[in-house]
Amino acid sequence: MTDLTRMTATDLAGLVASGETSAVEVTRAHLDRIAAVDDRVHAFLHVDTEGALAAARAVDERRAAGEQLGPLAGVPVAVKDVLTTKGVPTTVGSKILEGWRPPYDATIVQRLRAAGTVMLGKTNMDEFAMGSSTEYSAYGPTHNPWDTDRIPGGSGGGSAAALAAYEAPLAIGSDTGGSIRQPGAVTGTVGAKPTYGGTSRYGLVAFSSSLDTPGPCARTVLDAALLHQVIGGHDPRDSTSIPQPVPDVVAAAKLGATGDLTGVKLGIVKEFTGEGAEPGVMAAFRESVDTLAKLGAEIVEVSCPHFRYALPAYYLIAPSECSSNLARFDGVRFGLRVGDDGNRSLEEVMSLTREAGFGAEVKRRIMVGTYALSSGYYDAYYGQAQKVRTLITRDFTAAFEQVDALISPTTPFVAFPIGARTADPYQMYLADLFTIPTNLYGGPGISVPCGLSEGLPVGLQVMAPTMADDRMYRVAAALESVVGTFTPPAL
Ligand code: GLN
Repeated sequence: MTDLTRMTATDLAGLVASGETSAVEVTRAHLDRIAAVDDRVHAFLHVDTEGALAAARAVDERRAAGEQLGPLAGVPVAVKDVLTTKGVPTTVGSKILEGWRPPYDATIVQRLRAAGTVMLGKTNMDEFAMGSSTEYSAYGPTHNPWDTDRIPGGSGGGSAAALAAYEAPLAIGSDTGGSIRQPGAVTGTVGAKPTYGGTSRYGLVAFSSSLDTPGPCARTVLDAALLHQVIGGHDPRDSTSIPQPVPDVVAAAKLGATGDLTGVKLGIVKEFTGEGAEPGVMAAFRESVDTLAKLGAEIVEVSCPHFRYALPAYYLIAPSECSSNLARFDGVRFGLRVGDDGNRSLEEVMSLTREAGFGAEVKRRIMVGTYALSSGYYDAYYGQAQKVRTLITRDFTAAFEQVDALISPTTPFVAFPIGARTADPYQMYLADLFTIPTNLYGGPGISVPCGLSEGLPVGLQVMAPTMADDRMYRVAAALESVVGTFTPPAL
């Protein structure tokens, strides 16, 4: 019998819809796979066996009753532990929320349920989505299925690893500076960051509210597009949600899959010289550029002179917003409370709780952000970073007057060994060199596997104008039609 865990979401949905297999069978196959490999991968923080089987049974009953099912009904999905799930533990990879069971579902989770997808559980992540390797999870690292001594990227390493290990055909991530795309790149999977405001932040535990963007992860571009379509679109409960429908990303992925990019103009950012990137990554990227040209795309060089300031600007803006957002974790309202013995003041309890509940990287960001926002330094740091953000947006706007989309490697390096970059925060921050500009601008970006370097996956990034998410799917699907999908050596 075919192994259901090796199939695409598109094919699984087809089998469930036709009755060739049941949602329960599909779900059991994935739960079995998780039981078989997750002690080596550690993609999941929580597996919701009962909830998943109940959701699958409900889909099978609806089908038996003759109901028309949605395009992803019966397909399992793994959800990054940054989204609230009603009654299901949500930790954000932090000790401070250990044991918290949210009283409500994030909008994205509601939409996943309404579409008949089956939530398998919650995936591991760097604490509060701060990191690039999943090593900053308070619950231990996730291992890359390609080589379990290596990192799966971050912060959404659990979601990406679950896909690469065939534990789930679909996953949800969140991208503030690269946390969907970078894990996608280093695990040989597809990760898409939608336009900021194109997917709801309601129920997404906030890190940096002007940047945080939930989005789809999958093993194929079409699967990612189908998931994007299910979770995206306006949400009145998110004040920055864009009141427009999702561009037709599914049609764009199908168009791209025909392998014809005639009439599409792609830009290579001149300032992304490859300095600081591994030669193997740049070689795989250049080969993909040739492939895209062979498919009919016109390739030109464009200048985005302010991209070099993106990383420093991001590492002021994101920590500033984080220092404000994380003030709510006070030991009173959610999760952990330390030292509440009746003799201590409220301030002492808050302080002890935050001291015990937050890890080192989260504390570093809170301190940097508090400093950058303090009255004497606000203009010099936060204010300056906001000006840089405007200049980066102008670079994008000017670039998109010349080209339809921009392309680059997704990450400067392939998956590195666990422990290799934890001693120096700056080395970790460099993982997002190519992904951060898009977050500051607010446009969409996708990472699609484009080749291997020393046996490890390399991703190509496509960046598009805001609300032109469909364009990036077309280009990514065209590349995938030539390069194919990537399977790690057996676990
Ligand atoms: N690696 C970046 C950071 O540490 C981005 C994280 C993210 O996108 N959530 O902030």
